[in-house]
Amino acid sequence: MVGCSVLYHLAKLGWTDSVLLERDELTSGSTWHAAGGMHTINGDPNVAKLQKYTIDLYREIEALSGQPTGLHLTGGVMLAATEARFDWLKSIVAKGRYLGIEARIITAQRAHELMPLLDPSCFVGALETVVDGHLDPSGTTHAYAKAARKLGATIERFTKVEELIQNADRSWRLITAKGEIRADHVVNAGGLWAREVGRMAGREHPVLAMEHMYLITEDMPEVAAINQATGKEVMHAIDFDGELYLRQERGGMLMGTYEKACKVWSEHETPWSFGHELLTPDIDRIAPSLEVGFRHFPAFQRAGIKKIINGPFTFAPDGNPLVGPVPGLAGYWCACGVMAGFSQGGGVGLALANWMIHGDPGFDVWAMDVARFGSWASKAYTNAKVRENYARRFSIRFPNEELPAARPLKTSPLYDRLKAQGAQFGAAAGLEVPLWYAPPGTRDEFSWRRSTDFQTVGAEARAVRDGVGLIETTGFAKYGVRGTGAHDWLDRLLACRMPSPARMTLAPMLKHDGRLIGDFTLANLGAEGFLLVGSGVAEDYHMRWFMQHLPKNGSVQLAAHGLGLCGLAIAGPQARKVLSAVTKADVSAPAFKFMDVRRIEVGMASALLARVSYTGDLGYEIWCDPANQVHIFDALMSAGAEFGIRLFGARALNSLRLEKAYGSWAREYRPIYSPLEAGLDRFVACDKYADFIGKRAVLREKADGGGRMRLRCFAVDAEDADVIGDEPIWQGETVCGWVTSGGYAHASGVSVALGYVPKETAESDSGWSIEILGRRRTARLQRRALFDPDGKRLQG
Ligand SMILES: Cc1cc2nc3c(=O)[nH]c(=O)nc-3n(C[C@H](O)[C@H](O)[C@H](O)COP(=O)(O)OP(=O)(O)OC[C@H]3O[C@@H](n4cnc5c(N)ncnc54)[C@H](O)[C@@H]3O)c2cc1C
Repeated sequence: MVGCSVLYHLAKLGWTDSVLLERDELTSGSTWHAAGGMHTINGDPNVAKLQKYTIDLYREIEALSGQPTGLHLTGGVMLAATEARFDWLKSIVAKGRYLGIEARIITAQRAHELMPLLDPSCFVGALETVVDGHLDPSGTTHAYAKAARKLGATIERFTKVEELIQNADRSWRLITAKGEIRADHVVNAGGLWAREVGRMAGREHPVLAMEHMYLITEDMPEVAAINQATGKEVMHAIDFDGELYLRQERGGMLMGTYEKACKVWSEHETPWSFGHELLTPDIDRIAPSLEVGFRHFPAFQRAGIKKIINGPFTFAPDGNPLVGPVPGLAGYWCACGVMAGFSQGGGVGLALANWMIHGDPGFDVWAMDVARFGSWASKAYTNAKVRENYARRFSIRFPNEELPAARPLKTSPLYDRLKAQGAQFGAAAGLEVPLWYAPPGTRDEFSWRRSTDFQTVGAEARAVRDGVGLIETTGFAKYGVRGTGAHDWLDRLLACRMPSPARMTLAPMLKHDGRLIGDFTLANLGAEGFLLVGSGVAEDYHMRWFMQHLPKNGSVQLAAHGLGLCGLAIAGPQARKVLSAVTKADVSAPAFKFMDVRRIEVGMASALLARVSYTGDLGYEIWCDPANQVHIFDALMSAGAEFGIRLFGARALNSLRLEKAYGSWAREYRPIYSPLEAGLDRFVACDKYADFIGKRAVLREKADGGGRMRLRCFAVDAEDADVIGDEPIWQGETVCGWVTSGGYAHASGVSVALGYVPKETAESDSGWSIEILGRRRTARLQRRALFDPDGKRLQG
């Protein structure tokens, strides 16, 4: 199904010289036995947008192909049996507001009126959705296929790809039993065989199939009664706490479950002989979910079970698809790991076709980008994460909840020391990162509201503002750039002015359309080349872009340092005194200014010292060899004792950067925003000599009045819950924007939200409110930073 969607979109956008190769009959993977359910709602608004697109597309392909998709738009109810789940549903409705997704919060009684099979006493409330339903998986696949053919694309059935060989000119040879095809681009839409197709190209993709079961009942009189009374089909239902989904199937019902006792299918490789078979059902595995289901939907207790379907389908470690160009392999694309094909397949096809043809997916597809997993996502990691993800498919993930599977995978040399100090870790791109330091007997209690860490994170943040704090920064991505061509290459790649030796600058990186594709700190290390520091989770994503633009003549050597370069940072008014105590180098204010960078000795170890701090305070980043990190840490902690040095984690750092309204990659800075919209235009040097990527688009945008949105900072009248991200921003009675991130700025005692609003209203002093957990909270535009607005501490 996904392959057919990709083919359709390629042909629709003009690449009619595309061919889909299918080893068997169409639908011969997961597709033919799918339950065919589809939903617009998704926790990630960008994925929700693509899901909405997918569902809207079905009418189009039906009309073009003349092939019915069996589309039934029944609407649906999503049910909450606990207050925490109800809070989650409220946040989903709020996110849907600015996407134009029609959904509303209703009582359990109203849910019962809409879907009479449920027992309202089992639920505290529900969300009603309009664009939900189900379709015929086979009809839909053939509708895509016929529509693609009509547009001029080709489909070869019973043509298995046996081998993929890349030619010297980067084109591909696809070897099949029927002959050979030479292609500029290959898309892996292998579904259940995505791993095998990946291996043909020398890649191990992080996907794994899980067994999945649903049951179909005999005809039920209750269903007939609803059909007769309403003249409609029974509405869809998702019962999160029962981990179930339900819909009508002919005169009976279909009930599927994501059971806790889940089972991996074909752990290492998918047999080529597998086709239109089903797996043996195991009712014991799903019995606990069914028990809840039969209680929540009592009519099932009287229904006979006609059949149980058990089939495999694939997941990536986080449950989102793997889409896009695979880093390091020219002309090789992924459209696999699509676990909710009927909700997401259309959006995946459109994004990929845009990307292949126009060089950009045209949407914010970070959540699906194949580059979010690097080589660290091993087979065993994938196995552990996919099982966790499957078992938690309908579980709540609280904003302060870190998932335990496959950890620790990567640790820095400081891990044990920080753990001994109470560090509570989160995992970012596989690396354990300290979030906060819990006093003995305290740990995170998962909640939508301020939780057990609130006081301690506050104390960590205040320790920085009042004295000095130390944070480990190894989790940032660090790239070394050297060679005779390094300066000129960076000058063209980055939009900033190049720093002189021993100096640094903030460095936005733009796409050709003038939108952001990265934001870094760029340090000129003189004879040592350049150091770029950026977002850790985006390391493979950025490496893909760098490699695509690297000169072919070998004049630039580029390396992602990963754990090969470790980091520590100290910040706060006493930071300089602590540093002076551990180095002979002159780090006095006149000798070592803001944005200076130099190699010095800290204790007995050589390190790079950079005067910059994401806390917005007087501070230093120290980059060192992993073998020296413990030594430097001990030296700083021991010298800092007299100044009350305190360890702080990523949560306190977040609180501190909010006081300066500093944005971060993947939140405020994403590939849909221009530097002008994101407030980074002051770092874009349009007057520099080099014709950098995106320059023309930036100039055009400036001439046009500068984009659509503006990033703004708000102080929010919050009570016991702060924004998390993606909440709607209201101006008067209109939803006009969205929150990108926020939290509590402890040292200032203010709840902060950063978000985008239309530029026409961006200067309004009043009328703002932000919806948190279903309640609108008054917000005030924060024109100046809450902390150190004139930069005296930062630069002093
Ligand atoms: C029991 C069950 C219920 C489900 N219910 C739903 C649901 O309600 N809603 C929903 O959205 N999703 C559901 N799914 C998931 C859905 O089935 C998948 O998201 C979808 O089918 C994925 O489609 P695909 O095209 O990526 O993969 P596949 O269907 O596996 O297709 C891959 C195709 O590639 C072909 N192929 C592989 N290797 C080669 C090769 N080397 N050469 C040529 N051809 C090759 C295969 O023959 C196959 O036809 C369900 C899945 C199961 C198992």
